[in-house]
Amino acid sequence: MRIGQSTDIHRLAEGRKLILGGVEIPFEKGLLGHSDADALSHAIAEAILGALALGDLGHWFPDTDPKWEGADSLMILEEVVRMMEERGYHIGNVDSLVLIERPKMAPHIPAMRENYARVLHTDLSRVSVKATRGEGMGFVGRGEGVLAQAVVLLEENRE
Ligand code: MG
Repeated sequence: MRIGQSTDIHRLAEGRKLILGGVEIPFEKGLLGHSDADALSHAIAEAILGALALGDLGHWFPDTDPKWEGADSLMILEEVVRMMEERGYHIGNVDSLVLIERPKMAPHIPAMRENYARVLHTDLSRVSVKATRGEGMGFVGRGEGVLAQAVVLLEENRE
């Protein structure tokens, strides 16, 4: 087994779509970034890279590469899953957390988990997505940005 973890941060800005867990969430602001800026998907993807000791997400998906401009981050995650599978591993489980002041995440979490179960080639029971607020404190609490964290456990495939 191998364990990996990651944190990602993106700024909330006007004129952008809010996409988290591959779900477009109706809101007056969205996340700023080179891709669709889905911080939760980035954290999960980078946690998988971490478990494989393959470095950070920016190394594999540089924000200078036009290929990933405006990209659906589930596609980035798919690419990381392909790298994981090539090395003979599968997902044991994923636990993730997004810190965001508004809007409420709870109605969208089932769809996020379904997206991840599909893209990660695993069961829903192995994918956890949680959310919490910043209680008005810090950049999350002021609604300036979001912070996402993920921990993944990979299991080596049996022969
Ligand atoms: Mg990111």
